[in-house]
Amino acid sequence: MQNHTFGIWHVTNSTIIFFSTFGAVLLCGAAVFHLFAQNRMLRQRMGAIQDHTSDILRDLTHLRLCVENTSDGILLQDLKGRILWCNNAYCDIMKVLRSDIIGRNPLEFALPDNARLPPEVIEAFEYDKSDEQLKKLQLFRNQRGDGSLFWNQLSVAFQTGSDGRDYAILICRDVSTQVEREHYLEDLSGRLEHEATHDNLTGVPNRAAFLDFIETALKEDRDGSVGLLHVDLDNFKTINDTHGHSAGDAVLRHTAQTIRSSLRKSDLVARIGGDEFVVVCLGSESLDYLEAVGQRLLDALSTPLTWSDRSLLSEASIGAAQSEAGCMNAEDLLNKADFALYEAKRSGRGCIELYDAALHNRHAIEMQLAADLAEAIDTGAIDFWFQPIKNLWNDQIVGFETLARWVHPDTGRVYSPAEFLPVVEDIGLLGELDMISMLTALEKKASLAASGFPDMRMSFNASPELLAHPDFINRLIWAVEASNLDRHQITIEVLETNNFGDAAETSSQGAIIRDLKQAGFRVFLDDFGVGFAGLSHLATLDLSGVKIDRSLVSCILTDDVSFKIVRKAIELCNDLSIAIVAEGVEDETTAKTLQKMGCSLIQGYWVSRPLPASDVVPWLAEDSAPRVRIS
Ligand code: C2E
Ligand code: CA
Ligand code: CA
Repeated sequence: MQNHTFGIWHVTNSTIIFFSTFGAVLLCGAAVFHLFAQNRMLRQRMGAIQDHTSDILRDLTHLRLCVENTSDGILLQDLKGRILWCNNAYCDIMKVLRSDIIGRNPLEFALPDNARLPPEVIEAFEYDKSDEQLKKLQLFRNQRGDGSLFWNQLSVAFQTGSDGRDYAILICRDVSTQVEREHYLEDLSGRLEHEATHDNLTGVPNRAAFLDFIETALKEDRDGSVGLLHVDLDNFKTINDTHGHSAGDAVLRHTAQTIRSSLRKSDLVARIGGDEFVVVCLGSESLDYLEAVGQRLLDALSTPLTWSDRSLLSEASIGAAQSEAGCMNAEDLLNKADFALYEAKRSGRGCIELYDAALHNRHAIEMQLAADLAEAIDTGAIDFWFQPIKNLWNDQIVGFETLARWVHPDTGRVYSPAEFLPVVEDIGLLGELDMISMLTALEKKASLAASGFPDMRMSFNASPELLAHPDFINRLIWAVEASNLDRHQITIEVLETNNFGDAAETSSQGAIIRDLKQAGFRVFLDDFGVGFAGLSHLATLDLSGVKIDRSLVSCILTDDVSFKIVRKAIELCNDLSIAIVAEGVEDETTAKTLQKMGCSLIQGYWVSRPLPASDVVPWLAEDSAPRVRIS
């Protein structure tokens, strides 16, 4: 046995052997343990790698699932645009085989035939990675393999691969349905916009578009160079009535075209009412310039239109006004052109009138008159006078007609209805005025009864505005009932020149006449003989009587034709048992002649001029012999 000394350790061989062996065992153990541990680590690592690999595989599977099953086409391209790979959806969208397109630039086959690029352009193609535009969604009209076209929405992204090369990833989507719907909606809104701003019949801009245009023009008007022509057809109603509405429509279309083709491109023509057109001339230097344009239009419109073998001529009247620099709105300018048009109509039609200084003065006076009249109607300052009607057979006064008079509050001048009624009509107050006339007539009728004249009849004039007033009949009946009046002694005079429509008995005014008659009132046709369709109205309207117009009556002694017409009219009315009153009888001979013709009722200066309300009872109470009074 050997002894060994290891430092402080003093050991024998056997001990060494023992320790060596023990050491070896320990070492082995440690090694085994180490191996074991390493193995475990390896296994753990392997597990992790396996997990990672299966994650990658799973991701790849998912990726593939997505890429292959998305409805969007996906392309992988190099920067020259050559296809390296594509998914099935791309082939489906493009209707191409994958094998046919790999290696090709879509520019070669995806553009429509008429938009194909030359080979050298395609050859030179290269994506510009810095082009921000490419990253946005873009829309292209593309062509499929079968030749059909579709809307392709594209987006491009650039990516550098693990090989260090740059690639373009292209996503395509067939958005034809959406784009076509969008186009349809755009088209529809365009059509709606056109319809909202254009006249259906003539195709020219309508009133709303005209107002828009002129407001803008006037806002930008620095030197008073906006000219406005208001064009109104003179005999449009006659064309409509004689040839029918289709002819009327043809005339309106023809007028619009004729005006349009007589103007410069920058001028506007619009239809703003039935037979009313306006023309806006930009850069109009003066009224003289407008006069020349207007004259050109009148000349062009004086050529008749041939329609269904008929020659239709509808000449026009024109009113022209020029803007004043920077201080005008459309309404002002239109008012002025309107007033000038009114003048053109007054001075014989078929001509152009300019709104110049003289017309401006007249306009100012009429506007003042209109304001004064509106106030007079509002404050009940219109007066009503009464003209008697006499029965020639018994020399008795049988009734009165109510006639409006207006005494101007400042000047004291008495205005006749002929002077102020057109203005009242223009400001839309004729219905109001007639309502006052009606109530005044009924009041007078009641006061006459109270003064000992209970059988006196009372007439009042009813304009179309009164007849159309929704309260007319109710208020009439209410007032008659309130004063306990006999309805049969109340006469409503309607003008023969009223528009009763083609079928008078079915028109709304015809219906009102029937209602009035049914309610027990008398309805007379006024001014008989001056309208066009007097006889036809006699046949169709259920009338109580007619009043023969003064223009016929006043010349029966001098004009044979008037004599014959009046005689026939009286004969006809007597045959039809319709009452007849001759108006405007100014002398005894005329009265006697009418009596011989069979007319019993007369009205006129020979009996009396219209009387102020306070003179009526004294006049009746006086000797009833015919006399002439001055009003
Ligand atoms: P009208 O209904 O035909 O009334 C008769 C007109 O002839 C009255 O004119 C009267 O003064 C006038 N006259 C009567 N006898 C003679 C005569 O012998 N010789 C001449 N030269 N004239 C005579 P006025 O009062 O000026 O009325 C004119 C027209 O105004 C009336 O004609 C009527 O249509 C209308 N009118 C009058 N007042 C009203 C009213 O309150 N409402 C409506 N809507 N119209 C009215
Ligand atoms: Ca009358
Ligand atoms: Ca009359």
